Amino acid sequence: MKKPLRPHLYSLPLEELRDWLAERGLARFGADQIYNWLYKNWITDPLLWGNVAKKTKEALLAEFDLEVPKIVWQGLSQDGTRKFLVRMQDGKTIETVAIAADDRLTLCISSQVGCAIGCTFCHTGTMGLTRNLQAGEIVGQFVAVTKWLKENVDVNARLSNIVYMGQGEPLHNYEEVKKSALIFLEEKGIGLSQRKVTLSTSGLVPQIKKLWDFPPVNIAISLHAAHNDVRSELMPINKAFDLERLFDAIRTIPLKARRRITYEYILIAGLNDRQEDIDGLLKLLEVETSKVNIIPFNEYPESKFKRPSDTHIRWFQKQLLDQGHTCTVRITKGDDILAACGQLKSKEDSLNLWS
Ligand code: SAH
Ligand code: SF4
Repeated sequence: MKKPLRPHLYSLPLEELRDWLAERGLARFGADQIYNWLYKNWITDPLLWGNVAKKTKEALLAEFDLEVPKIVWQGLSQDGTRKFLVRMQDGKTIETVAIAADDRLTLCISSQVGCAIGCTFCHTGTMGLTRNLQAGEIVGQFVAVTKWLKENVDVNARLSNIVYMGQGEPLHNYEEVKKSALIFLEEKGIGLSQRKVTLSTSGLVPQIKKLWDFPPVNIAISLHAAHNDVRSELMPINKAFDLERLFDAIRTIPLKARRRITYEYILIAGLNDRQEDIDGLLKLLEVETSKVNIIPFNEYPESKFKRPSDTHIRWFQKQLLDQGHTCTVRITKGDDILAACGQLKSKEDSLNLWS
């Protein structure tokens, strides 16, 4: 029989850790001290937490996994993107990618081992779902990469942004992803601002309707098509939740002033890059509340789709810009090491490529 996973200390939002300590007759402020060690100073070994009571440490060690998930491999792309293979306590591995751009260092994190959604253009989608990650395994990716960068690249290295765009459908693992977001935003710890965290979803309608109860991070919707027949071909989830139901759900997302929903749109040659696709997008999207991010399709071994030419990508973008839409084209990063969007797959793939 499989051993159940031990709960990870990094799974606990600050308030939960305080309550956990209080329930055992231990001082609540121990939680604040631990947060300070872990997420401000990146000291992950409890033996070094000088001001934390011995009893508190013993209680934590008895209950929780305190190990940082292990980086078992990392590779650097020519453009500076760095892919990490991270191993969890049960030996499962996931990938996480650090992308440098301008003054940002963004970590693209995974929320599941594999993914159940099965989009036809996505390398991860071909794996199926193995399991959800615990919040602590999501936060653990951030901790592990931060420590690795400090030890191997620059002691002052700091990850500035997070995108939930690695392996997995984050809203399919709603509760754990929510806890991880609370931890990323916690001022007494990592303290990222809401604007620096983006969650991307393929369109799980019931969970989108629950986003009022989620920390107010940026939301990106993987739209990829403006017509139901094309979207269903790309994303089987559209058969359950079509565009009409998706947009009904999106309208329930509370949007703060001046904030918009990002619509990700993979551009695939001959499939969703036609004039009628632009017409469809213009009907679906409001200029004031949306921005479009075009992702030129990233090819991977055995992928059946093709990327349009650069001229065609620019043409597509221009049609939207001319109608007043905010529309950017995502520069492909890390594709030489299969670290670009949708190219993340399994350990075997990664290791074969570089061994
Ligand atoms: N599961 C979530 C988040 C992870 S995927 C989602 O689907 O939104 C992050 C982004 O990469 C999504 O917009 C996804 O559609 C896109 N993507 C997947 N495969 C791709 C590929 N081969 N080329 C370009 N983008 C891809
Ligand atoms: Fe899953 Fe996102 Fe890939 Fe679709 S694109 S299979 S939802 S990871």
